[in-house]
Amino acid sequence: MTAAATKLAFDNGGAFIQDTRREVEQYLSRGRTRIKGAVLLYVKAPIALALTVSSWVVLMFLHPGVIVAPLCLLGLVLGATLIAFCVQHDANHGAYFRQRRYNHLVGWSTDALLGFSSYAWRVKHNVAHHTYTNVDGFDDDATQVPLARFAPSQPARPWYRFQQYYIWPMYTLMGLRWQVAGDLAAFRRGRVGESALRAPRGWNLAGVIVGKAFFVAWAIVVPLLVYPWWIVLGAYIGFGMITSLIMATTFQLAHCVEEASFASADDLRGERRIWAVHEVETTVDFCPRNPVLTWMLGGLNFQIEHHLFPRIPHTHYPKIAEIVRRNCAKHGVRYSFHPSLGRALRSHFLHLRTMGQLGLPAEIEMG
Ligand SMILES: [Zn+2]
Repeated sequence: MTAAATKLAFDNGGAFIQDTRREVEQYLSRGRTRIKGAVLLYVKAPIALALTVSSWVVLMFLHPGVIVAPLCLLGLVLGATLIAFCVQHDANHGAYFRQRRYNHLVGWSTDALLGFSSYAWRVKHNVAHHTYTNVDGFDDDATQVPLARFAPSQPARPWYRFQQYYIWPMYTLMGLRWQVAGDLAAFRRGRVGESALRAPRGWNLAGVIVGKAFFVAWAIVVPLLVYPWWIVLGAYIGFGMITSLIMATTFQLAHCVEEASFASADDLRGERRIWAVHEVETTVDFCPRNPVLTWMLGGLNFQIEHHLFPRIPHTHYPKIAEIVRRNCAKHGVRYSFHPSLGRALRSHFLHLRTMGQLGLPAEIEMG
């Protein structure tokens, strides 16, 4: 970590997380709970892989017509979404297996099938985002200045007053940006947010190079041997834009809404916060009673539980949520959730609008 990052520290204890951890441990130790959760997690990987591979094989070798081809592209989008939320995310957090190397191996699906480096993702997501959630300048996900403003501590700019509209096309490009240059740029900078990112070496370097080559081969080179370049380009960009929009929106609905709090580095230096409380109050769940969405999003609609227990398979989150909610009420921690997707999207829209107008001169604000 850089000097700036080392100066930010949280209190890792507190009665809230101690009680919650104890109850979660009791729940996991009951009967076959752990095994059941693991089986429900593992079963998703072959489904995601089969969907992706079968869609790709039909597209490449069976020359489908105008009806089946879009269905195959939809299959690729669904497969990639499942791999992103239900396979690589758990694996790169270390929730898949006990052994780190096996987690990294499954996590390499990020490189091979999604096109960006799992090695860089582990710093961007596990360190920068999970440790410093919604801390301006430290959480890479909360910092898109000068394109958009998510946190009140970020400076006002006139164009942000339209951000609640132009943010959506921006989300569609985030995945493509990270695929093409984002991870390589982070390697060059040597950091993500304020968290250090060492240049990959050995197996990690091999993973980055072979992963990029593998992705380029199946997503670009082989399709170019079968289809004209403009179809490949259109399909690649379309696929990238839709998957990116789904991924960015899912994370934003959990952290960039009216109910989520934000902090600046100065806020954290001014008062030593309890990390677990900070995580709950900077995060918001959505659609907790929608089992289909919960399955598809790999439990990321239960982001509060995910942030408190990132190394526990996401298949346990709905049960863990009951424990977390009870302990939040007991210890006076603010726990927020949106009952529907519509409510969560509305809150995200309103938060962007508020941030866009905050601090602008009155005449611009009125105009
Ligand atoms: Zn995570």
